[in-house]
Amino acid sequence: MFKIGLTGGIGSGKTTVARIFEVLGIPVYYADDRAKDLMNTDNNLRQQIVTHFGDESYLGKELNRPFIANIVFNDAEKLSLLNSLVHPVTLKDANEWMQAQNTPYAIKEAALFFETDAWKHVDKIIGVHSPFELRMQRTMQRDGASRGAVQARIERQMNEDDKMKRCDFVIMNDEQTLLIPQVLQLHRQFCALAAST
Ligand code: ATP
Repeated sequence: MFKIGLTGGIGSGKTTVARIFEVLGIPVYYADDRAKDLMNTDNNLRQQIVTHFGDESYLGKELNRPFIANIVFNDAEKLSLLNSLVHPVTLKDANEWMQAQNTPYAIKEAALFFETDAWKHVDKIIGVHSPFELRMQRTMQRDGASRGAVQARIERQMNEDDKMKRCDFVIMNDEQTLLIPQVLQLHRQFCALAAST
């Protein structure tokens, strides 16, 4: 079974593209959502978060998101510490999930692939590319966020050109180029690849 990564910058349309693959019957692992679940459900991970960030990290069984967000948004070292705790657990969970799928290929959707060693665990990576201003407008609208707040989030991410250069395929999501034909073309390609191996 082929393992496909799906990535892109904030507001690029990763989730929108992933939903189209799901309509075609392809299972998708949403890494960011799953990571949030694992922070609540994986006991070992919970313990490590408490050790590094303190007892206030959890309110009962739930991660105290505002508390953690406040720490990591203001401190790049703390953000990378949190990532270094969460990523290995998510990576293992994603790999187990991939093994359990029985379709010609399956997709892992994640904001981070090249920033960690997650890219080594998939066979091919699709990048979703959108022009900067569109990403800005979409994210401001979706999250009710200010231009400055979205700009800061974009600046914390890997450079868009560098990211797209490292992807094996690029889907253009500029609201001019139709998305569905691009997804269908890749779907046929992946099914053919899977059938030939
Ligand atoms: P994030 O990294 O922030 O989770 P994302 O890359 O998963 O973002 P989406 O959530 O898919 O991006 O898209 C961001 C917003 O833009 C959503 O509200 C989505 O509905 C909208 N959007 C994405 N692509 C299109 C499109 N082609 N036409 C219209 N709206 C779009």
